[in-house]
Amino acid sequence: MIFRTTTSRAGGSALPRVRTTAALRPLHHRLDPARVEEIPFRADDGVRLGLTRIHTGAADRPAVLLLHGHTASADMFLLPETRNLVDVLLDDGYEPWLLDWRGSCRLPYNETGQRYTYDDVALYDIPAAVNHVRERIGDRPVFVVAHCIGSLTLSLSMAAGLVPGLAGVVSQGVFLTPKLAGRTSLRMSLAGELLKTRIDHIPVDFRKVGLWSKYTPLFALASRKASCPDPTCQILHNSAWGTGASLFVHENLSEATHDRLADLLGPAPLWILPHLRRIELARSVVRWHETDHRYRHLPPNALDAAGRIDTPVLLLAGSDNGLWLDSQRLCHDVLADRQPQLDVSYTEIPGYGHLDTFLGRGAALDVFGHILDFLGGRR
Ligand SMILES: [Zn+2]
Repeated sequence: MIFRTTTSRAGGSALPRVRTTAALRPLHHRLDPARVEEIPFRADDGVRLGLTRIHTGAADRPAVLLLHGHTASADMFLLPETRNLVDVLLDDGYEPWLLDWRGSCRLPYNETGQRYTYDDVALYDIPAAVNHVRERIGDRPVFVVAHCIGSLTLSLSMAAGLVPGLAGVVSQGVFLTPKLAGRTSLRMSLAGELLKTRIDHIPVDFRKVGLWSKYTPLFALASRKASCPDPTCQILHNSAWGTGASLFVHENLSEATHDRLADLLGPAPLWILPHLRRIELARSVVRWHETDHRYRHLPPNALDAAGRIDTPVLLLAGSDNGLWLDSQRLCHDVLADRQPQLDVSYTEIPGYGHLDTFLGRGAALDVFGHILDFLGGRR
């Protein structure tokens, strides 16, 4: 990762205030509210999460569980202003389910509450959600479509054998072989400076932060060479929370989506960076907790344990992914070489970056067809 943190602490270090029971921010969608069931749901360690089922009235539809990226939320699949993935899945005969795992901006944990690592997501959040879906729908097939860190942590759950028997998995942006952009661009002591000032997360909403605050230098830095005047857009598009990477191809977003970025993406916690950095250095999804026996079911290195994957996987990536670069192509090549028995395919979306593969105004035409083709061949 780009930040040089001086601390080696990550999850497990208790904050003064521990909140594990939090109300979720309401979802923003244009579905019939009677069809949207928000399920009181907790991860296997008791942390309150969000799980949403979109009812269709049909009892034979395969389920598709959607996993958002870190600091995003289930809202990224429900954009009212575009033809979104939930629309497309409903029209094609699926039953969408949406998990808000603990890194969701609908939940408070990125800013306040109990710290966590990606181990917790892989061990406690994703398996609990898959199990819950299965309890509710019986033996119907369950697919997962996962974006960014939602996909990275899913790969750890899969390599641990914690979510066996999925009908298929679509992974967007990154899976088992993370390769981050921006390593040389902002390798500054920014994180160290921020931690000194007791900043423990990087905000994105300039309206909440204000013109003069401890965050002002961060936004000022992100605005350098920016072509768009919106500070929230700058810190995401131009700087990806200060990392120097880019989260989307700007012209692929509609104006309405562009104006909602501060709702769609929340603050990024700095305390997750040691785990992310370890993952980046390993070029693989590695477990953070080495000695804590609670995490013993996770493999130390998910790539080394990829032989345990028992489901077809479609690796998706925009040709211009400014955050994870060509991680997905790399993943495909490595798995083809090391685990040739796996059913893994790779599809690149020309002209797309990272988030715009789901948020883009043309994603239904340019991206979702590839997802439907994959699911349709395995339902
Ligand atoms: Zn912009």
